[in-house]
Amino acid sequence: MIDSLLNPWIRDLVPYSSARNEFSGSAEILLDANESWDGGNDGVNRYPDPQAFQLRKKMEEVMGLPFSMTAIGNGSDEIIDMLIRMFCAPRKDSVMIERPTYGTYSVFAHTSDVRVIDVPLSTSLDLDVEAMIEAIKTEKPKIVFICTPNNPTGKVYPLESIKRIADANSGITAVDEAYLDFADGFASSLALIEENPRVVVLRTFSKAYGLAGARLGILVSCPEIQKIFMKAKPPYNVSLLAQEAGIMALEDMEKVRKRIEETKKRRDEFSSYLSSLGFVRHLFPSQANFILIRVDDAKALYDYLVSRGIVVRNRSSEPMLDNTIRITIGSEEEMRVLKEALDAWNRA
Ligand SMILES: *Cc1c(COP(=O)(O)O)cnc(C)c1O
Repeated sequence: MIDSLLNPWIRDLVPYSSARNEFSGSAEILLDANESWDGGNDGVNRYPDPQAFQLRKKMEEVMGLPFSMTAIGNGSDEIIDMLIRMFCAPRKDSVMIERPTYGTYSVFAHTSDVRVIDVPLSTSLDLDVEAMIEAIKTEKPKIVFICTPNNPTGKVYPLESIKRIADANSGITAVDEAYLDFADGFASSLALIEENPRVVVLRTFSKAYGLAGARLGILVSCPEIQKIFMKAKPPYNVSLLAQEAGIMALEDMEKVRKRIEETKKRRDEFSSYLSSLGFVRHLFPSQANFILIRVDDAKALYDYLVSRGIVVRNRSSEPMLDNTIRITIGSEEEMRVLKEALDAWNRA
């Protein structure tokens, strides 16, 4: 069934067979990959494991993600790009996104010359399930991207809504759960995969795990899609240092959990603080590690904060988000400095 959705050139691809793929077992002397024989002590003179075997084993053990259902991308960005290249034919197929949402889905669609169908969120910034199902019927997108909790609104969508969309969609439904760790009582779309193998879930080490610089994205899918991804991805897409960083983070989950709890606590405190400020017109309740606010003049506030050495994100150009600013929850000290600046702005 997945076969018929794939681009035929991907389905029939003969993958690059790397030196480390052709040899399995253990050997003392590796003279198969034209690597340098010398690279200091950290082992980076060797190519990384194309399968990210140890990291994925650790993910299975710690995150409960079955080994046969996971693949690692060079950030979720690479996974988004790969999914589009696997399933969408340039100049022919389309992907569907909601607006407003994370910007890279449409950028990667455009780099593959794949059409983007926008479906606006409802006025409450929820999924407009009926409109999406209608658009799915007429446009037949190859991939529907759903981001929950959504960036930049911080809103979680009900699993039932996602299930209805995925069932109506004969293409792939890609659910981006980059911020799930910050959401309370989050119901992951992983639960949908068994019944509907066209559902794939994206996770990342960039947010809760604190490894944005390492570039580690996770694809969770039925084993069939996982195998095709492994075949079609660049063989050495995830660096050895990144794989090690991921394993180290998973070996200290206490630290990760503590950071998540601290972030959520600070987010909720910061929310109450923001609602006490006269110039904040609306506060969008967030289940992520950022908060979106509406103010009278987003550009003026943005410029003012920059003048105080603080950079936030002006989201005003997004539909329905006129005069909004997205603020990431930072360290205690960073939030203290930010509050000082916001206090002064409030007094002015
Ligand atoms: C930050 C973010 C990601 C993470 O992307 P990486 O490439 O893994 O760093 C994915 N999806 C959304 C919606 C994000 O906001």
